[in-house]
Amino acid sequence: MQTGAEGIFAGGDMVPSERTVTAAVGHGKKAAHYIDAWLRNSKYTSSPKHDLVGFEKLHIWYQTDADQKQQDHVPALLRTENFSEIVAGLNTADAAFEAQRCFSCGNCFECDGCYGACPENAITKLGPGNRYRYEYDLCTGCAVCFEQCPCHAIEMVKENGE
Ligand SMILES: Cc1cc2nc3c(=O)[nH]c(=O)nc-3n(C[C@H](O)[C@H](O)[C@H](O)COP(=O)(O)OP(=O)(O)OC[C@H]3O[C@@H](n4cnc5c(N)ncnc54)[C@H](O)[C@@H]3O)c2cc1C
Ligand code: SF4
Ligand code: SF4
Repeated sequence: MQTGAEGIFAGGDMVPSERTVTAAVGHGKKAAHYIDAWLRNSKYTSSPKHDLVGFEKLHIWYQTDADQKQQDHVPALLRTENFSEIVAGLNTADAAFEAQRCFSCGNCFECDGCYGACPENAITKLGPGNRYRYEYDLCTGCAVCFEQCPCHAIEMVKENGE
């Protein structure tokens, strides 16, 4: 994500790519890894990519209808008086609320759904940002975690060809 100018990184709508929120957030995360490595004078090697999660793979068993938060506007008649901003933007609380919306990026967002659903206590929480560990010796392969994961972050794979 480094531009032609040494030490200047770019992403999102600024670079030729898909112009979506998911791509922009992904670029930010990717750039952060490379900026960190650049500052430490080391090299970042990205982990292998997961398969693309299409809409048909999502398990959207819950959904919240949340109305869009409204921003204050300067009334039309007062807009010619000066060059002040017309749209006020969101306050901190409303911005934080809007930021909770799911963009279905297909990554685990630590909702604890699988952790709460596993009947075998086979899932251990590793703390914020570190996700979970699955104990395959305890796992019976019931697929409950897989079926309720909203974003298909869990994949069931056959063991020993069975
Ligand atoms: C009408 C519309 C609808 C859209 N709908 C969707 C949708 O439904 N789903 C979806 O995924 N994507 C949608 N998009 C695309 C999505 O909004 C963008 O791809 C995404 O917001 C890009 O994020 P970004 O961080 O790269 O840029 P931006 O969100 O544009 O952020 C750039 C920020 O930099 C600030 N800035 C600019 N210049 C300066 C400066 N000189 N100094 C300091 N700050 C500066 C700007 O004010 C802005 O806050 C939509 C876009 C539009 C216009
Ligand atoms: S793997 Fe899925 S169900 Fe488990 S915490 Fe992550 S998003 Fe939630
Ligand atoms: S498949 Fe394994 S980890 Fe997932 S819910 Fe069932 S027992 Fe728990």
